[in-house]
Amino acid sequence: MAQDDQFKKLIAHAKEYGYIFQSSEIYDGLSAVYDYGQYGVELKNNIKKYWWDAMVKMHENIVGIDAAIFMHPLVWKASGHVDAFNDPLIDNKDSKKRYRADVLIEDHLAKYEQKIEKEITKAKKRFGDDFNEKQFRETNPNVLRNKAKIDDIHGKFVQALENDNLDDIKNLIEECEIACPVSGSKNWTDVRQFNLMFETQLGSVAEGASKIYLRPETAQGIFVNYLNVQKTGRMKIPFGIAQIGKAFRNEIVARQFIFRMREFEQMEMQFFVKPGTEMEWFEHWKEVRMKWHKALGLPEEKYRFHAHDKLAHYANAAFDIEFEFPFGFKELEGIHSRTDFDLTQHQELSGKKLQYFDPESGESFVPYVVETSIGLDRTFLTILSACIQDEEVKKENGESDTRIVFKIPPALAPIKLAVLPLVKKDGLPEKAREIIDSLKFDFTCQFDEKDSIGRRYRRQDAIGTPYCITIDHQTLEDDTVTIRDRDTMEQERVQISELAQIVEDKVSMKKLLKKIF
Ligand code: ATP
Repeated sequence: MAQDDQFKKLIAHAKEYGYIFQSSEIYDGLSAVYDYGQYGVELKNNIKKYWWDAMVKMHENIVGIDAAIFMHPLVWKASGHVDAFNDPLIDNKDSKKRYRADVLIEDHLAKYEQKIEKEITKAKKRFGDDFNEKQFRETNPNVLRNKAKIDDIHGKFVQALENDNLDDIKNLIEECEIACPVSGSKNWTDVRQFNLMFETQLGSVAEGASKIYLRPETAQGIFVNYLNVQKTGRMKIPFGIAQIGKAFRNEIVARQFIFRMREFEQMEMQFFVKPGTEMEWFEHWKEVRMKWHKALGLPEEKYRFHAHDKLAHYANAAFDIEFEFPFGFKELEGIHSRTDFDLTQHQELSGKKLQYFDPESGESFVPYVVETSIGLDRTFLTILSACIQDEEVKKENGESDTRIVFKIPPALAPIKLAVLPLVKKDGLPEKAREIIDSLKFDFTCQFDEKDSIGRRYRRQDAIGTPYCITIDHQTLEDDTVTIRDRDTMEQERVQISELAQIVEDKVSMKKLLKKIF
């Protein structure tokens, strides 16, 4: 399926099955803002729990906080968001559409990468088992030509970014003959800087009000609380502070569904270390975070590391974990070595010391920080992208049929089991309710008695429910039920007393965590 179609399909599926709705849809929506529906919120909560348990519960030296969204305006002066965090923007004069200049160039580079991948797919088909991909990449003239093009553009792009040279970025857009996706024209304005923070006012009357911002990242709430937590928690370096919360950015390139939203959620952990040890911890967290992703069981080849082209003003090392979304490999999580930049800045602007006293060496210092910062919504999108599948199935009469199955990692599935009475009478619904009443303390269960059993299975497949349990007349006689597995569609007759264990084995968050720790 073409990437675009695949993407449209997953957006439609997310809406049809109560995962994600456009915000204020009855008023035609609000651009790049989305609401999570009845299943979406469950999946989101389960992702949060998986992250929180992996970071906080599994580490004695990491604790969590929940800081406010509003912060003192000087926080954003100290962090650099007021002055330095600007994105380069360019307008197309014909369509009047505004784009992030760096995104236009990255999308252009992705086109050459796609050409290379096409070449390789073609050759794989042609040569079959004899195909040597490495050799092909190193020798095929078309691949080499496209690769040289990528290297050339990328080199110029990095240099322009490093020099903060906006004219060079514009020249590169012209040199690459990048056209506006809407108007098709190459009639561009100059590149300008733009600040992404939303402003609002604190206080009720305009004169007495002061300008504040909606936080564009959760990290600063951790930095300004670093000493509070260290002292009250008697934390010894190295230690971490974790937080999950909303962040707001007035994004310009607001498309690609929940990939880039104006209101989104981050899961961030700042790890405070002794200066000089930060690179070891950087490597450590790179590895642990990649393991966390891979433990979910989505295809491993969809993840890769990507080193930043240009380091942010606060960083001395930065890697992204990228995921192959339907529109290509894009950032999912950032792992950054932030040095002592933030704490030093807060020290200067607040006039308060933010040092750590090391009882062993007797010295005081401002700790260095290694951060792991992941988008909750982007993690949600990895699951939507990789787990919704169309499958051919054989019906009992031998005809083939298709089913749409959402193979969510079972520990994250919104509903863990559906309990389905075969018919709406003879005491079967009551028996189903009895089973739910005993299991609902441990698992989110759903009762469904409408439509044929086949249709009910399909509905649960589309929602992603790992198990369906069917109650029939035999159940009333011998306390057995049929349990059907979402992925294999195999059915087995088991005792009601065994259900809790069978479901637990499949959906346990503990098993997922044990793959990492
Ligand atoms: P990008 O380059 O894609 O704009 P970024 O480098 O600005 O991302 P960070 O500031 O490192 O992102 O934020 C950490 C994480 O927060 C990102 O890896 C991403 O998962 C998530 N994130 C950032 N911006 C958005 C957004 N507008 N919508 C959804 N998630 C976001």
